[in-house]
Amino acid sequence: MIPVTTFKGKSVALFGLGGSGLATALALAAGGADVIAWDDNPASVENASAAGIRTGDLHALDWKSIDALVLSPGVPLTHPEPHWSADLARAAGAEIVGDVELFVRERRAHAPDCPFIAITGTNGKSTTTALIAHILKSSGRDTQLGGNIGTAVLTLDPPKAGRFYVVECSSYQIDLAPTLNPSVGILINLTPDHLDRHGSMQHYADVKARLVTGSGTAVVGIDDTYCALIADGVERTGTKVMRISKRNVLADGIYAEGARLIRAEGGATRQIADLSPIQTLRGSHNAQNAAAAVAACLAVGLNEDEIRAGLASFPGLKHRMQPVGRKGDTLFVNDSKATNADAAAPALSSFERIYWIAGGVPKEGGISTLDGFFPKIAKAYLIGEAAPAFAETLGGAVPHEISVTLERAVEDAAADAGKDGSGPVAVLLSPACASFDQYKNFEVRGDAFVKHVAALPGVSMLVEV
Ligand code: ADP
Repeated sequence: MIPVTTFKGKSVALFGLGGSGLATALALAAGGADVIAWDDNPASVENASAAGIRTGDLHALDWKSIDALVLSPGVPLTHPEPHWSADLARAAGAEIVGDVELFVRERRAHAPDCPFIAITGTNGKSTTTALIAHILKSSGRDTQLGGNIGTAVLTLDPPKAGRFYVVECSSYQIDLAPTLNPSVGILINLTPDHLDRHGSMQHYADVKARLVTGSGTAVVGIDDTYCALIADGVERTGTKVMRISKRNVLADGIYAEGARLIRAEGGATRQIADLSPIQTLRGSHNAQNAAAAVAACLAVGLNEDEIRAGLASFPGLKHRMQPVGRKGDTLFVNDSKATNADAAAPALSSFERIYWIAGGVPKEGGISTLDGFFPKIAKAYLIGEAAPAFAETLGGAVPHEISVTLERAVEDAAADAGKDGSGPVAVLLSPACASFDQYKNFEVRGDAFVKHVAALPGVSMLVEV
């Protein structure tokens, strides 16, 4: 845990005790702050009280005596409208911050030079964060991994010289971190997302941009117009910018040519890594993530050999295009995280011949936007509520069956793929649907897929079951 010493003796109100909220309250209390916490969910409040945190409805507070309001990232600061606690704090002149800001202040107070890599973007945050942490760890660096990826940042070990922090930041966390100053800030890409919470694309882009404006070195993916403009703007302020691209040759920066990552520097170019043998980094979207990771690792002083070794041994993230088993020419891939058509597109684009398992609770529009991939699909196995509608969309264009359950889909897809005979094929779970009709969440669905794959005769598993 990182005790928040920078709020010692201060009165802090905290709203939002789910997720990272309780860990934040405990870190504040451990550092000597006088904390009072609240949540709309009585179970979360009870839990916090049991952990020794003072709880109470923040409506009833004397806000004049409060120095700061700490908000959980899930609680709206501005859009669609400010949470009532934010209104009360603002009216009383108390500052409003989140857990990433508390971490930033602790680092500044105790170990301002310890390398801190912060990652944001619309897509690829967790993959890039995990990849960087993996490269650092495998090079022997003392590495702490946390933030939006799931480990609350204040549960990490305290900042000290030589310790590396790799922290995934959502827009909400950036919004609540006014003095965010990573040694390396990464902005991977920007596409419209979460606009309900940010009002407009411009506001969303402005929030994301703050992560790189405050950084020592800014790593920016310039394949979309917003990020390209942000990179130019940050450079004009004198910050060092490393540009990355998954599709364009750059005069300076790291770019992908197919699966090869090229480093361009001072007019010279050379290959820095070849991703083609790395199953966990397939596809141009992963080339973008890997380019960002390479740039960040170079910026914090790793050498190219250390970086190549880390890339080659990256185990991948669970449920995101994760290779889980192999039998002959068939690779079994778990992409359960793909809960809508857009999210399924990268996986469908990354394999040449696919036995595709899809379905669950469909999102608006179904899978019609994926028709460009239909020619690669040898056969589709449809499960859950979406099966009849997806069957209609596939029509005569793609052979398909309604498998109903995931277990049956895995068995049938494996049997058909085994008879394919055309070379490497993938049995891919990339459902383009939410899981709630059959599973609690996408993680449980992905674990079930792995279990069914492991039960097939003659499969070599690539992951633990
Ligand atoms: P995030 O943490 O931003 O949600 P993840 O790394 O968890 O992103 O990846 C989630 C899904 O998003 C992946 O399964 C893949 O389909 C897609 N994805 C990953 N990286 C990228 C990228 N750089 N560009 C576009 N899509 C991506």
